[in-house]
Amino acid sequence: MKKSALLSWRRTKIIATLGPASNSEQSMAELLASGVNVVRLNMSHGDHDQHRVLFKRVRAVAERLAHPVAILMDLCGPKIRVGEFVAGGIELREGETVQVTTRKVFGTHALIPISYAQLHEEVSCGERILLDDGKLELQVLSVVAQEIRCRVIYGGELKDHKGVNLPDSELRVPSFTHKDRLDAALAAELGADYLALSFVRDCSDVLHLKNHLMHLHADIPVIAKIEKPEAVENIVSILQHSDGIMIARGDLGIELPAEQIPFIQQRLIYQARRYYKPVIVATQMLESMINSARATRAEVGDVASAAMSSADAVMLSGETAMGAYPLQAVQTMDRVLRETERHQWQSGQFGPRLNNVSDEQHFPLRTAVAHAVVSLAEDLKLQSLVVPTRNGTTARVLAAERPTAPLIGVCSSAVQQRRLSLLWGVVPMLASEEQREDWLQLRELISHTYLLEGDGNTVLLVTGFSDDPQLNQPVMKVVHL
Ligand code: PEP
Repeated sequence: MKKSALLSWRRTKIIATLGPASNSEQSMAELLASGVNVVRLNMSHGDHDQHRVLFKRVRAVAERLAHPVAILMDLCGPKIRVGEFVAGGIELREGETVQVTTRKVFGTHALIPISYAQLHEEVSCGERILLDDGKLELQVLSVVAQEIRCRVIYGGELKDHKGVNLPDSELRVPSFTHKDRLDAALAAELGADYLALSFVRDCSDVLHLKNHLMHLHADIPVIAKIEKPEAVENIVSILQHSDGIMIARGDLGIELPAEQIPFIQQRLIYQARRYYKPVIVATQMLESMINSARATRAEVGDVASAAMSSADAVMLSGETAMGAYPLQAVQTMDRVLRETERHQWQSGQFGPRLNNVSDEQHFPLRTAVAHAVVSLAEDLKLQSLVVPTRNGTTARVLAAERPTAPLIGVCSSAVQQRRLSLLWGVVPMLASEEQREDWLQLRELISHTYLLEGDGNTVLLVTGFSDDPQLNQPVMKVVHL
């Protein structure tokens, strides 16, 4: 019997951030061919013209490779950064005194310009200023006009535009900035598949962006980045109002004690699944591969652990954006995920089973049918779940249950096909409206594309889920190929 192409499908998806190391057409093609499912454009860097060029290049490469890849545009929010230095960077030595300034100047030795113009009004003596993902630390000694005098607690090299965190200060900076508005308009113009919103504190931040998108007549799903302690506290309403979450461990691990992050990560993954929303684990997954061709054993363990906790996707940032080994980083991630999933498959379970009936009190039918589908897939050792889906809801709900059978998400729009690329275990497939609606035609197409036909091969067709209880009309059909 011919081997089904579905058997080689990786369940956990890979997101790669573009940057100088991966912006060329050739590099992009190598990353996509190595299994990248979603490409991230980080709006913290580059201008709109550069993003337009990159966006179009990703679309062209994906089309050439016939590889459905979603583009996630990541709005930087009120990310505070250091400005530019005359020499591109400076060296900070422990114990020395430096001056942080909100004046718009170039930095020099012991003078650090900062992007947040009100900072001098909102920091106090004794508070910490953390630089470059917390690698460097300053302590505020005094504030006079726009100058903040600080002692260097932990030194090192500080380069242009590195991030700044102030875990001790209460900042009044708004979550959705003027730049985010302009960047969201660009995302609408280009037709981004997902938008990520940084520094979300509660669901009103998400609704703010959604409202803005509505005015732009753009229907782009919003991924809330969880990187503030308030977001962890407000996670239920954020999940209810967003289209997915990203556990942005870079900032979260500074805003909260880093030792809490593994447990928060595990809890957030489970909660996102309970609300049938995709969840991404991000930052420092293979950080050492920025400079080294081989990942550390700890990093391999981190990627495996995210997959074992059943994240939808894992994300590479600096590794693919500015590292020396972008391709090797994607290949390493792919190998670790496949090996982890092989073990999960052998033990008969992809991540912990959901116990989500209590969250869906108002909507028990959908939850019960989703549970039944997963049981059937397991008990009947189904070749596949075939899910014709108009706006992705049925695929999203079933994917969150992490079924053992691969899930073919059949849609008739290229946008939906790309969006499905983010979801755990979903094989996105494009079909005509007619094929999607007509089971006989769909059976032909699927058997042929994925070499499923054979003695006793059975698939389960599932469709009809909706987020609106009135419109939720699930249909299940067992079909022998
Ligand atoms: C993070 O902080 O982990 C993150 C993904 O955000 P960014 O890289 O956009 O600062």
